[in-house]
Amino acid sequence: MEFDDGCRDELDRLEDAQLRRELVSLAGEGGRVRVRGEHGQDWLSFSSNDYLGMAQHPEVIASAQRALADHGVGSGASRLVTGTHPAHMALEEAIAAFKGLEASLAFATGYAAANGFASAFLDRNSIVLLDKLCHASLIDACRMVGAKLRVFWHNDLDKLRALLEWARAQSPKGRVVIMTESIFSMDGDGAPLAEIVALKEEFGALLFIDEAHAVGVLGPQGKGLASEFGLASRVDIHMGTLSKAIGVAGGYLAGSRPMIDVLINRARSFIYSTAPPPALAEAARVALEVVTGSEGEARRARLRSNMTRLANGLSVALPPAAILPWIVGEETKAIRGARVLREAGFFVPAIRYPTVARGAARLRFTVSAEHREEEIDSLTQAVVSYREPHGLAERSRS
Ligand SMILES: *Cc1c(COP(=O)(O)O)cnc(C)c1O
Repeated sequence: MEFDDGCRDELDRLEDAQLRRELVSLAGEGGRVRVRGEHGQDWLSFSSNDYLGMAQHPEVIASAQRALADHGVGSGASRLVTGTHPAHMALEEAIAAFKGLEASLAFATGYAAANGFASAFLDRNSIVLLDKLCHASLIDACRMVGAKLRVFWHNDLDKLRALLEWARAQSPKGRVVIMTESIFSMDGDGAPLAEIVALKEEFGALLFIDEAHAVGVLGPQGKGLASEFGLASRVDIHMGTLSKAIGVAGGYLAGSRPMIDVLINRARSFIYSTAPPPALAEAARVALEVVTGSEGEARRARLRSNMTRLANGLSVALPPAAILPWIVGEETKAIRGARVLREAGFFVPAIRYPTVARGAARLRFTVSAEHREEEIDSLTQAVVSYREPHGLAERSRS
């Protein structure tokens, strides 16, 4: 009783601050980029991270169905307990080959991969220097192990250098890790990887890069931003997810063989969690094959052309990947914008605190290779006709 009253008070506080979140229940997929609301609404979705449309890919679906029929659904236990299914080994070999690295380890989610890294390699004596806009999975992982966390302003290399100097004064030989994303999840911009790599080498720090929104989208064969800059071999720990452009589910860490072997021994989210269904590993492996091949190339080209069309239509700078945020400021404005767009037939999320800073609420448009040109154009029209009379000019993005 008292507990529930407390819960209701908490929800009222969130409501008052325009920060209450609710699940929008869908009746189902409408195929491609459409979703159906439970009351029969038909929305064109600009909210998914399935950037290449792989979640609906017939080959990927068929591979999962075959694997389900052959191996069943659940995997039964942790891979250290019940043995490792060949589908997981094959996926990890495919990820390592894809990234051009020695080895990889797959996790149930990207969130679990970040957690696994921290539990294996960080403790109270470690210093982690983290970009201000990094994803919650990275922050939570570092906090969980009590690492000394220092945040630098988004992409601020002077501040990063100052923190590296501070870290080396504190701990001349200790473990210092720089953590950043290659493409930032809520802002859609990229990290200055060449400069960060130079800094990490100058100070003997480790570099951890979360490529969640770059894998499949950027770089040769969709290998990510580090590969695009030719820097992959100089990044110590590569993290990515199989749930976004790869269209399936799961996360991974990739790097050297010894690093992966330590993870197998020390990553708590790997050791103490049941292995994902082999069918998901199989689907992810097949999706990766498509994404790295000529079809993936064609999908990336369509995505690029859709992104360019949307950015031009909205008269904003072209973002490097597939995320276009429209920062409107106040939480109420983002909620109102999302509602207006939903009434016009578009599903676009209002992103608010604590996912982004207070007062930096935004509509976050994500584009897919599966959007048609006329769909991009109809969204553009809806946004422009809402934006102009409301004077909601785009705030500077930085
Ligand atoms: C989505 C995301 C994750 C988590 O990946 P999941 O597979 O969804 O758990 C980690 N980092 C970033 C930047 C992300 O956007």
